[in-house]
Amino acid sequence: MKSKINKAFVEHFGGEGTLFVAPGRFNLIGEHTDYNGGFVFPGAIDKAIMAEIRPNGTDRVKLYSIDLDASAEFGLNEEDAPKEQWARYVFGVCREIIKRGGKVEGFDAVFSGNVPLGAGLSSSAALESCFAFALNDLFNDNKFDRMELARIGQSTEHNYCGVNCGIMDQFASCHGKKDNLMRLDCRSGEFEYFPFKLDGYKLVLVDSRVKHELVDSPYNKRRESCERVARHLGVETLRDADMAMLEAVKGELSHEDYMRAKYVIEEKQRVLDVCDALLKGDYDTVGRCMYATHDGLSKDYEVSCEELDFLNDVARECGVTGSRIMGGGFGGCTVNLVKDDLYDNFIATVKARFNEKYGHEPQIYPVIVSDGARRCCSCEG
Ligand code: ADP
Ligand code: MG
Repeated sequence: MKSKINKAFVEHFGGEGTLFVAPGRFNLIGEHTDYNGGFVFPGAIDKAIMAEIRPNGTDRVKLYSIDLDASAEFGLNEEDAPKEQWARYVFGVCREIIKRGGKVEGFDAVFSGNVPLGAGLSSSAALESCFAFALNDLFNDNKFDRMELARIGQSTEHNYCGVNCGIMDQFASCHGKKDNLMRLDCRSGEFEYFPFKLDGYKLVLVDSRVKHELVDSPYNKRRESCERVARHLGVETLRDADMAMLEAVKGELSHEDYMRAKYVIEEKQRVLDVCDALLKGDYDTVGRCMYATHDGLSKDYEVSCEELDFLNDVARECGVTGSRIMGGGFGGCTVNLVKDDLYDNFIATVKARFNEKYGHEPQIYPVIVSDGARRCCSCEG
């Protein structure tokens, strides 16, 4: 990737700039917990966006995207937003830095990446984090800490891309550490690293490549259920509730609200259980929790779909240690924890069985847990 970027930089701008890189992410467990003040447990992955950047002494930004073979140019004032969606991620990062009292001047940049777009690995967060890290380094003497860089990316999504996302994706892309996952407390913003060495296991994402478009905004409905139950219990968010509290008011709630809240409360505990199990190297418990999350998302939270349940069933049949829906649901990926010696059979079986049933193969993305956003002096690749 590096030599391709160097070459394109020479062709488009001449000479050389500085290279920066930021990864996509996966999430081992902790789904639909972020907006309930709970925990998520992501890690950065070995798929990333890399950019070569050089200040150009003007007040204009000139971008070339290798993957889209497209150029864009814009100024740095609020009214200068580019029309190209992909360039708005970079424009948004510039604007959010400026809004926070940081400095951004004109620059030339070439970038490329291998985070699959729209597969649930957060290519957009990788793009934002790469530029946020780079512009902090080049123009601001690294005065913003990594959490602030993550917020800059999140605000970019909110204010310039129309996506009302939580902080997890940008957080993971900015804070990632090789062989470590991060338990993020979505309420306080505090986090802790947990070693994740994977001796004897592999992590693999299986992308169903289906996305069910739903008309009645199920995401908002889930949120409303959670908020309703929290209000009923007199707590700020379901983070503050436990099963005993929920059982005590079961008769006063609709069945649906009860089931949604049950999932969220159980999922909060599962993230904590997985962290404990990891510290003991107890991958069987990690895997059991992943399957329990899948069942909860499928039966109680009702955000699965036929294809994802099928992928989960095949994983169970192949003896996969843990498997679950990753992301919001209704399509996208499952994340799978697989013993080394079962890996090849699982991949072959899941491809063939899925293809037989749905007429296309799922996409397979093996994952290695990697470092977060950085300047790359001696970058791999
Ligand atoms: P994801 O789940 O991967 O974050 P999004 O729809 O949020 O999906 O973001 C994908 C968008 O991010 C793309 O449509 C594009 O605008 C931008 N993007 C991501 N990766 C690249 C890339 N390598 N080159 C250009 N633009 C990219
Ligand atoms: Mg995104």
